Amino acid sequence: MFTILFTFLTCFVMNNNDTATAVRIEAKELPYANDALAPAISAETIEYHYGKHYKGYVDKLNELIVDTPFAGMPLEDIVMEAEGPIYNNAAQAWNHEFYFSALSPKPQNAPTGPLMTAIEKWFGSFEAFKAQMTKACVSLFGSGWVWLVEEDSGRLSIISESNAGNPMRYHMKPLLCIDVWEHAYYIDYRNRRADAVKAIWPLIDWKTVEQRYRVENK
Ligand code: MN
Repeated sequence: MFTILFTFLTCFVMNNNDTATAVRIEAKELPYANDALAPAISAETIEYHYGKHYKGYVDKLNELIVDTPFAGMPLEDIVMEAEGPIYNNAAQAWNHEFYFSALSPKPQNAPTGPLMTAIEKWFGSFEAFKAQMTKACVSLFGSGWVWLVEEDSGRLSIISESNAGNPMRYHMKPLLCIDVWEHAYYIDYRNRRADAVKAIWPLIDWKTVEQRYRVENK
């Protein structure tokens, strides 16, 4: 009996000692090589954008949540509940994971099935949708993100957000995002954001976007 109790207490204490590492938010692996998206997005851009900026947000978030109620929470829950610096770093981490995971060196170049039907319904055509989202990217002032979202009603919309803005905060379902912070394109395109946005469309994997669209409602 004492042996069992001792074993139980030992496990309990050891688990508690492990808590500081166990609750750490881990950076997601990039699902392709650094040079896989070149020349549209160079290896050097990925080294900085994924390796420095994205991982920097994850590291900073881990620093900020120590000894707060956010320690141990899933990243998405932190995005939904936090404010200030914790929100900014959590949302930037989440947004970048969503951004990088929709790009592919071998993408499905256009939506099919229910997502294509919905895009045609709400934007007129796939080309009209891309033109509208491109215009939103180019015209967003300063740093931010442009999102394709599904609203509660089922309507698809394009949403522009400054800084770390994430439309889950308004209970919209994100389907696709384009990063228009200068750090996303400055190495390859300098100040030419329009050229960077034009170059990203052929890298978007619509199979991934379709999977996001289907998760809850189809
Ligand atoms: Mn970025």
